[in-house]
Amino acid sequence: MSKTFDIAVFHGDGIGPEIMAPTLDLLRGLDHDFEFHDCPAGAASFLDCGSDLPEATLDTARRADAILLSALGDPAVRKPDGTELIPQVDLRIALDLYAGVRPVRIVPGMKTPLALPMGKSVDFVLIRESTEGLFHTQGRGTVTDDMAEETLRLTRRTTEKVCRFAFDLAAERKAAGHAGRVTSVDKANVFRAFAFWRGIFDEVAGDYPDLTADHAYVDAMALWFVIRPWDWDVMVTENMFGDILSDLGAGLMGGLGMAPSADIGDDHAVFQPCHGTAPDIAGRGLANPVAMILSAGMMLDWLGRKHGNDALVRDAARIEASVDACLAAGETTGDLGGALDTTGAAAAVMARL
Ligand code: NAD
Repeated sequence: MSKTFDIAVFHGDGIGPEIMAPTLDLLRGLDHDFEFHDCPAGAASFLDCGSDLPEATLDTARRADAILLSALGDPAVRKPDGTELIPQVDLRIALDLYAGVRPVRIVPGMKTPLALPMGKSVDFVLIRESTEGLFHTQGRGTVTDDMAEETLRLTRRTTEKVCRFAFDLAAERKAAGHAGRVTSVDKANVFRAFAFWRGIFDEVAGDYPDLTADHAYVDAMALWFVIRPWDWDVMVTENMFGDILSDLGAGLMGGLGMAPSADIGDDHAVFQPCHGTAPDIAGRGLANPVAMILSAGMMLDWLGRKHGNDALVRDAARIEASVDACLAAGETTGDLGGALDTTGAAAAVMARL
């Protein structure tokens, strides 16, 4: 009998429920056995029960085979110290999701600001370490009248794991025709912490003699993202550098509505679009569902590889191909110049599936 996959579903705030509903419909239409479990979280949950990440939700997430999350938060709902609720970040820490996977792929129909030279294509993956780095003292930094201080922490354990994750991914991609190259994006010329990072990266690289390993400084990489984005395969970087570069990557694809992501640890994984809850367009059917649908595709790929289920891996590829076909045909929402609403754009992907 085929395995039932328990999926924890965070419908989220703002446009979250609008993009999650058609994504679940799409998954239900595939030939797999999914059981979806609702997980209240975010601003609505905070207003409802006083917690943006209730213990019961965390339990469901821990027990699930995978976690599908739309987006959480509302700028109007804040903690007493004035900061916003960030349960999506708390979830990464709680489940030790150290590898933030941010693919950047430019295909026809995207509103990329780049003019790509003939014969050049962009298809790289940024791996953002997602549990430490400059986020180490997040919410606990020291602030006085005269000074503010946060601490960047890199541990050997997590740095080694995230580098290994990047090399394993590059090996998988090499088998599919990519360059087989991993680039450490750091600032080892200035900070001892990044010299430490680079040392660990080089140690891990020694275990992958068939792959190319090299280094780049993060400031130069910001330039190269724009000047020659076709040059890269897999990059691995610290949390804050990755936070910034992944939005730059989404910009290369023409906006956040196109950018999927995964946050992966040893035992758990969350799949969610890079964008937030877009309160400015919520409730109007304008939200682009593509990043959410592609994130669900990444979930199928991860589940398929983890459980040796080729049909899941094949369906992940079919989802990506269907999205590409819709983009090329202009079957898109208004942010990409199309005439479809959220439901219509998702239905177009399903029709091609
Ligand atoms: P945002 O990503 O929600 O929106 C930025 C801009 O992109 C807006 O103009 C929005 O309309 C547009 N946009 C975003 N997603 C879109 C989509 N699918 N289709 C079309 N347009 C889209 O960022 P923000 O406005 O800075 O944040 C809004 C809320 O989301 C805040 O409460 C923030 O904390 C939260 N947030 C949550 C996450 C998450 O859950 N992972 C990530 C970022 C922000």
